[in-house]
Amino acid sequence: MSTDTLAAQVTGPVLTPGDAGYEEETATWNIAMTGRPAVAVGATSVADVQAAVRYAAAQNLPVAVTATGHGQARPADGALLINLRRMNEIAIDAAAGTATVGAAVEVQNLVDAAAAHGLAPLAGSSPNVGVVGYTLGGGLSSTLGRTYGWAADHVRAAEIVTADGELRHIDADTEPDLFWAIRGGKGNFGVVTSLTVGLVPVTRMYAGGIFFDGADARPVIDAFRRLVADAPDALTSSVALFRFPPLPFVPEPLRGKLTVHLRFTYLGSAEEGAALLADARAAGTPLIDAVGEMPYTGFAAIHADPVDPIPAYEQGALLRDFPAEAADALLEAAGPGVETPVLAFEIRQLGGALSRAPEVPNAVGHRDAKFSVFAAAAGAPGMEKELREPLFGPVRALAPWATGGRQINFFSGYETEAADVATGYEPAAWERLRTIKTAVDPGNLFRVNHNIPPLG
Ligand SMILES: Cc1cc2nc3c(=O)[nH]c(=O)nc-3n(C[C@H](O)[C@H](O)[C@H](O)COP(=O)(O)OP(=O)(O)OC[C@H]3O[C@@H](n4cnc5c(N)ncnc54)[C@H](O)[C@@H]3O)c2cc1C
Repeated sequence: MSTDTLAAQVTGPVLTPGDAGYEEETATWNIAMTGRPAVAVGATSVADVQAAVRYAAAQNLPVAVTATGHGQARPADGALLINLRRMNEIAIDAAAGTATVGAAVEVQNLVDAAAAHGLAPLAGSSPNVGVVGYTLGGGLSSTLGRTYGWAADHVRAAEIVTADGELRHIDADTEPDLFWAIRGGKGNFGVVTSLTVGLVPVTRMYAGGIFFDGADARPVIDAFRRLVADAPDALTSSVALFRFPPLPFVPEPLRGKLTVHLRFTYLGSAEEGAALLADARAAGTPLIDAVGEMPYTGFAAIHADPVDPIPAYEQGALLRDFPAEAADALLEAAGPGVETPVLAFEIRQLGGALSRAPEVPNAVGHRDAKFSVFAAAAGAPGMEKELREPLFGPVRALAPWATGGRQINFFSGYETEAADVATGYEPAAWERLRTIKTAVDPGNLFRVNHNIPPLG
């Protein structure tokens, strides 16, 4: 079958290298992961996705999937790329407290739609990440995580096109195994064309971020440790070391120097929130203090994640503890006086509802971890070898406190081998995921990702 035959079955564009629009269709948010797919399909509907999957299976082409391009596992060279960005419808069922989103809905758009009904999804730090990709990877909410758990815990149902090209409606009753697997197993089991998620009654918060000079790193990190030692579940917080470049888009007080960023979300009253934050607020001289009462729709200001595409490389770990000795090790590896290309190094507190089992079990594990560690550097495509050691160094310095597990959504783009991906799951969950993969995708059609290979 030629791509012309495929194009005749698909409403959206079907493009090969050299076609007008190919570069735009295959662009990724993380520029370092942009590849040269053999075919790119701009899907507009479930039928387009089905035709693309069937074509790929017939031609023996691996399928790569992109929605917003924030989390591409590796360049989709030679694959059939399904770009879902046109599938972004949102339906809120306020009475049921749920939202049904299309394959590529961005988090901010769902937050805004839910807010009109006094409800909220469990958003991550970035407004532009895809709800589906984020949720299938667990979904660590930087605002509501410790209060409500993982975003994946709130999934009610999904529609998924599997490797045979069939559309399946899955939930806890109809296909319990596949439903368990996609909530954590990410894009390994098919293309999710719609996802129904539970919303929570959150409209406001006492929240924001405080930037301190890097010279205050030690007292601010100590204050973060005191803050989290006794934190209520209504408080979700993190701390990050940032080295912003000396460029005009960076606010003047932060430009070209080491800063420490304390992020804070408290769902109780502003008075209680201010009291909880007082010790950390006084730990140094704030360069910018943007913590205050805010609507949930303003969540993106807390982390102020980059919005425009960048070439990014990452590394991460999970910790069982973050004692004073770990803070010493972190500061020695990434603190004041250290020359490093690593732009961001963050520690998020886990625990609270993130450590509790969900009502309907899913593949998201490592719930005993108390902190998540994440490092990111910017570098041109192909710089992974050069940036590997600078990224690994500070993470390795925290190894004595690491659980050995990893968070699925914070895998780097160059860790796609089974041995790497397995660290995202409990051993029994990994075996079950592989068994389910064998049943629904025995040929590993969906393998341009953090791959869970079929058995054998
Ligand atoms: C700036 C930034 C901030 C982030 N903050 C957080 C955070 O706070 N918490 C957190 O948990 N994660 C966070 N992440 C990680 C993010 O959740 C993952 O990278 C996620 O995979 C992004 O999904 P996407 O659809 O936006 O990206 P894409 O690159 O479009 O998709 C990534 C992968 O997800 C899978 N996928 C996406 N959509 C579908 C679909 N419809 N069907 C099947 N598979 C699909 C595919 O395997 C795809 O290759 C952040 C990432 C960035 C870049």
